[in-house]
Amino acid sequence: MFVYSKHSSGTHKIYHMEQCPVVRRIGESHLGYFYTAQEAEDKGYRLCKVCQRQQMKKLHMAD
Ligand SMILES: [Zn+2]
Repeated sequence: MFVYSKHSSGTHKIYHMEQCPVVRRIGESHLGYFYTAQEAEDKGYRLCKVCQRQQMKKLHMAD
């Protein structure tokens, strides 16, 4: 599951992994969810930089 802020529409569409510390700063009423990363990417969202770093550490590969 991936998380995004409904308020970040516009030029900076960012989504996060659920464990991302940035997610805690998003108000609960502003949270939206994607089930897959592909769904987010299709809608023009980019994975946040903190998440990217964590994901690379976890999977040890960049795409
Ligand atoms: Zn993030």
